Amino acid sequence: MASPHSGATSDPASEQSRRPHILILGGGFGGVGAARKLKGADADVTVVDRNDYHTFQPLLYQVATDLLETSACGHPLRDLFHDQPNATVHEATVTGIDLAAREVQFAEMAPLTYDYLVLGLGAGVNFFGVDGANEHAFPMYTLADAVRLKGHVLRKWEDADRDSALVDDGAVNIVVVGGGPTGIESAGALAELYRSNFAEDYRGIPQDKARIVLVEAGPALLSMFKPSIQSYTKKALEDRGVEVLLGEVVASVEPTRVTLKSGKVIEAHTLIWGAGLQASPVGEMLGVELQHGNRVPTEPDLSIPGHPEAFAVGDIAWITDGDTDDVLPQLGSVALQAGERAGENIARLLDGKETEQFRYHDKGTMATIGRGAGVVQTRGGHTLKGKAAFFAWGGVHLALLSTGEDRTKAVMDWTWAGFTHERAGRISVRTDTD
Ligand SMILES: Cc1cc2nc3c(=O)[nH]c(=O)nc-3n(C[C@H](O)[C@H](O)[C@H](O)COP(=O)(O)OP(=O)(O)OC[C@H]3O[C@@H](n4cnc5c(N)ncnc54)[C@H](O)[C@@H]3O)c2cc1C
Repeated sequence: MASPHSGATSDPASEQSRRPHILILGGGFGGVGAARKLKGADADVTVVDRNDYHTFQPLLYQVATDLLETSACGHPLRDLFHDQPNATVHEATVTGIDLAAREVQFAEMAPLTYDYLVLGLGAGVNFFGVDGANEHAFPMYTLADAVRLKGHVLRKWEDADRDSALVDDGAVNIVVVGGGPTGIESAGALAELYRSNFAEDYRGIPQDKARIVLVEAGPALLSMFKPSIQSYTKKALEDRGVEVLLGEVVASVEPTRVTLKSGKVIEAHTLIWGAGLQASPVGEMLGVELQHGNRVPTEPDLSIPGHPEAFAVGDIAWITDGDTDDVLPQLGSVALQAGERAGENIARLLDGKETEQFRYHDKGTMATIGRGAGVVQTRGGHTLKGKAAFFAWGGVHLALLSTGEDRTKAVMDWTWAGFTHERAGRISVRTDTD
């Protein structure tokens, strides 16, 4: 059914009678946070995403390594708004935004006009122009990325099982690029998959010939953490059989080889890219001067400068904290809280009130390296590592999941894997297009 806001032009009579229309672009943490805060508003809310599901990015690596089912990381967007009668969801890709005309264009449907806009289209991978990365590297930003990586790794092990020459060629070796949370979490999870499950599954392939190499350009892992956390993380990874290369930069990627700027060549048929991101290219259509990483600038209340009716939230936005003036990192908790603030600000404008500035409540930056090994650092500099940090990480991530059903699924999968080391999802289902 067509939305009442379909079409760039509309009948002036119905224009007068209709409720304000709030258009939310992106059903990620930011978009969903904003939409939920508008539940009680006397307005129509439309959420548009190119997928029909909300993606829980922080746990993608767990889908790629079979620790979680796909459906624990992707939740039907429509389901999230069953209890919100003023919200409508469309699956469509944003192709253009005209801030002056208050109109958004899509690839698959007619343009929509709006009274208020929330821009929450997130960010994507940045390969920094590394030769061959676009063609051969595996990014980890979407559910499709995680599912593709999982199938690829399983196929490499099956291929190597049939032909031992492939083991010597590096078929089961993996290079992970980036010593930030994405890189270390991916490397740690792969190490557990290799050393626990694949060691039993593929007894003919010696584990010492299945290398996991983490490459980081800087002098330490987790550059934003204190040195004690950095050295703990490095040791925890090495204890799990991950080789950590610091001060090394990837120069080029080929299907079976990774060349570093130092001249080292690593035989590996898989390279996971966790090293950089850039904001959605849609920001470039706004006609505003973008900040570092193509991020859209925002005022303290999260509106786009010169457009008090349009708000930018989450990874696409350059957000400064109201209390400290710090530029906030591209994190799920920042996106969710900013989305909620944008939604609340629009509700205030609808009520004739002034907007409020965004203040971020920091629960700490955290990462997990593997079972029983995590790290946490708060903005005040307090740190936690080991089991306590692992459980703190689990609690914070469960809270971020969008529904109770998703939380239950994750707890069941984690508990099962924790007790049995078992990962039931390690099958590769081929479709006609594979
Ligand atoms: C592997 C990984 C691990 C992470 N781990 C953590 C962590 O442990 N803790 C943490 O706090 N944060 C973590 N993050 C960061 C966190 O996931 C992001 O900061 C957060 O998802 C940003 O939310 P968002 O709403 O801005 O964007 P997103 O969640 O990316 O949502 C953007 C939405 O916009 C849609 N979209 C994009 N372009 C278009 C278009 N043209 N048309 C229509 N729809 C479009 C996308 O489909 C998506 O649903 C991690 C990120 C990654 C990639």
